[in-house]
Amino acid sequence: MKIHEYQAKELLRKHGVVTPRGYACFSVDEAVEAARKIGGSAWVVKAQIHAGGRGKGGGVKLAKSLDEVKSHAARILGMQLKTHQTGPEGQKVRRLLVEEGADIRKELYVGMVVDRGSQRVVLMASSEGGMDIEEVAATSPEKIHRVTVDPAQGLTDKDAAEIARRIGVPEKGIAQARDCLKGLYKVFDETDASLAEINPLIVTGDDRVIALDAKMNFDDNALFRHPEIMAMRDLDEEDPAEIEASKNDLSYISLDGNIGCLVNGAGLAMATMDIIKLYGGSPANFLDVGGGASTEKVTEAFKIMLRNPKLEAILVNIFGGIMKCDVIAEGVVAAAREVKLKVPLVVRLEGTNVELGKKILAESKLPIISAANMADAAEKVVKATRGA
Ligand code: ADP
Ligand code: MG
Repeated sequence: MKIHEYQAKELLRKHGVVTPRGYACFSVDEAVEAARKIGGSAWVVKAQIHAGGRGKGGGVKLAKSLDEVKSHAARILGMQLKTHQTGPEGQKVRRLLVEEGADIRKELYVGMVVDRGSQRVVLMASSEGGMDIEEVAATSPEKIHRVTVDPAQGLTDKDAAEIARRIGVPEKGIAQARDCLKGLYKVFDETDASLAEINPLIVTGDDRVIALDAKMNFDDNALFRHPEIMAMRDLDEEDPAEIEASKNDLSYISLDGNIGCLVNGAGLAMATMDIIKLYGGSPANFLDVGGGASTEKVTEAFKIMLRNPKLEAILVNIFGGIMKCDVIAEGVVAAAREVKLKVPLVVRLEGTNVELGKKILAESKLPIISAANMADAAEKVVKATRGA
């Protein structure tokens, strides 16, 4: 799960990380009121969406007067903000963060992720903040420094101070940078985050160290332990099909292609997408109905796939282990009838009760294309999208 910048900054502040003073706003009036409360003579109006690159896309604007706060807020609120992370359709801005304008001397990068190789949290830091860190990693990887954190010790004072010096924090700011990095680790650890990033972390004209941007993602499997984080979920930022799927306990991810996939087991779902690609097709989604899918669940899965206007064919690929092929076949038949299926449906069944499953499909009289194996299924479904 992702959260907004202003929410991530709240979490960081609780752990001693310094951020600009600011308020989340839902209207132009609130934005002006927030600027008035903050005081001073420079403010930044920031679009709050679950994607980075907002600055380049026109979603972060400096204002030098309350009138400018008002005009920026009016323009940004409701805009369809396009960044390299939103895709071409962009994301509608429904919330703003208005905060005090900072006096930036240097923009640095710090971020934490779980490194699966070392099975530890890794702190990454660079003097090249503000811009895309992916680009720094690609063009000058030597500018990214790493510290692997020992979970028994946490991030030590020594490691934190050392990495702060390496990325160019001046001596006067080291203590504050160290507290910031330790705070970042604490939030990461305590909230079961999968990513926590401050880009940029800035050094101000008077050598203070401030988090100017903040991004956090959380491990969905641990969210049950964190109701306060769950409460930060913003459904407006999520794919409606994925929300519907999660309500039905289905693992569903929208993709760009035109072939819907309904599969049991994540590994088989990945393999199914691969083989569709191999035969020149393109999957419309990843969908794992899990081990114990009922007729109702399969019907829901069909409905969710069919919301996608790009869908041209469906491939059902089931290996009946715990799940029996006859149960899935009944589910497929019931679902196809209920949703009045109009696109070609290719089904490949294997495993427990496969003969009975095939019989149910055949006797349904539905125009189901049956496939002998995965390759055959992929070939047939790709052909079906080409009108063959
Ligand atoms: P994004 O990463 O989505 O583009 P950021 O929050 O990093 O959004 O903002 C982009 C840039 O805008 C920053 O690199 C910084 O130069 C500037 N900026 C952001 N917040 C402030 C602020 N409070 N004061 C001054 N400049 C800011
Ligand atoms: Mg940023």
